[in-house]
Amino acid sequence: MQQKAKRNTRQKQLVRSVFEKMYNHPTADMVCAEVAKADPTIGRATVYRLLNSLVEEGSAIKVPVHDGADRYDITVKPHDHAKCLQCGKVLDVSVEGELPRVKDVDFTVQGGAVLYYGLCRECSQNT
Ligand SMILES: [Zn+2]
Ligand SMILES: [Zn+2]
Repeated sequence: MQQKAKRNTRQKQLVRSVFEKMYNHPTADMVCAEVAKADPTIGRATVYRLLNSLVEEGSAIKVPVHDGADRYDITVKPHDHAKCLQCGKVLDVSVEGELPRVKDVDFTVQGGAVLYYGLCRECSQNT
């Protein structure tokens, strides 16, 4: 293997293993900070690129959060998220009940991924 390809593979393994230990839906910046602790020579652009390649190959999903940076998620099966308005943490949630019905357009809901907003347990106890 060429030197460059080898280095690439090693960096990707490191980013993957750091990311896999973060169960808190990290942003790319949060992953960068953890990767820097393990190997300060890996730059931000590389971490961003490697995270996106994990998404492309189906090892991670990107969770868009409208008021902040996208989150990366190791759980790839479709699921809903809830974001705490106070501390910004993003949690996996499952919702009970039937699928919602769309009222104003002709559209049959078969599934989806939703981002809910609210307060996490710690934050609602502190208010
Ligand atoms: Zn919170
Ligand atoms: Zn998730």
